[in-house]
Amino acid sequence: VIYDRMAVIGCGLIGSSVIRAARAAGAVGSVAVADANPAHRAEIEALGYADLVTADPAEAVRDADLVVFAVPVLAMGPAAAAATAALKPGATVTDVGSVKVSVGDALRAAVPAGVHLVPGHPIAGTEQSGPASGFAELFRGRWVILTPEPDGDAAYLEAVERLSGFWGALGAQVDAMDAAHHDLVLAVTSHLPHLIAYNIVGTAADMEEVTQAEVMKYSAGGFRDFTRIAASDPTMWRDIFLANKDAVLEILGRFTEDLQALSRAIRWGEGDKLFDLFSRTRDIRRGIIIAGQESAEPNFGRDRSPPAGGATP
Ligand code: NAP
Repeated sequence: VIYDRMAVIGCGLIGSSVIRAARAAGAVGSVAVADANPAHRAEIEALGYADLVTADPAEAVRDADLVVFAVPVLAMGPAAAAATAALKPGATVTDVGSVKVSVGDALRAAVPAGVHLVPGHPIAGTEQSGPASGFAELFRGRWVILTPEPDGDAAYLEAVERLSGFWGALGAQVDAMDAAHHDLVLAVTSHLPHLIAYNIVGTAADMEEVTQAEVMKYSAGGFRDFTRIAASDPTMWRDIFLANKDAVLEILGRFTEDLQALSRAIRWGEGDKLFDLFSRTRDIRRGIIIAGQESAEPNFGRDRSPPAGGATP
């Protein structure tokens, strides 16, 4: 047992997966859950993996040695503020939010001195949401990025070590990174791809000359893969784009320039340019497979269940 008592605030896909994986690994003694959604609270009660289920974050965090905030990014601050007064001195507070600068700031404002704040982000997920969609293997072989405070004392560094050990017990590999750098990296690897997917599926849906029935009936692999990503939770993704505005706009600017260059190459019949780019990009995919972050199976191995991974916000 790494933490005697863990509290999870927001128990959807990620929060419930943390609990399942921590239970399976024997990493926690007891578990308390706070969730704002009454239907989700009923589901969590029925799943039977929490010792306490409540609507009140303060009640859940009382006596907890590890507190994990797993609500949508813009709900992190309010949820933490609701828990502040009940946080146990010496406890560790972390989160799983997909954006780190703004979430770190929001949590820092709510976490009192004497409680260790170590923001984090598991690069693991699917396009599902809610407690029933979680599973214990979600973090296996995946990366968790922690963005610890740069000026922590010995007790703080010990808390970071312990949290790294916790994620390791859940099957993940842990990296530490500056929060701003995290936000730029994830803007490229996750946020921009989701924006492109939402946009391309939206464009197809709005076309007048091609009916929606045709789009669905003749959906080829390319479009179908985009629809999987574009089926991701609207609240979560609205929050991510608002909370990571600067990094997303920076990457979107570069993307738009590159797209202009591609359309010029098509217009001018520059097949070599297209071929060169399409060759370079295959190497990136090979690299992801070699790094163990994707399967080389047809259809990316996505027909298996439970999924080995998926969209990784
Ligand atoms: P989810 O399945 O929608 O679960 C979030 C849960 O938190 C819901 O039950 C939600 O209730 C509840 N909630 C919302 N606001 C709350 C508040 N103020 N206090 C208490 N509970 C509240 O979401 P998720 O996919 O697990 O994502 C959770 C976090 O993980 C997000 O910050 C996201 O950026 C991050 N993340 C997600 C993924 C992914 O693939 N999904 C991957 C990595 C990280 P309602 O249903 O009423 O809103």
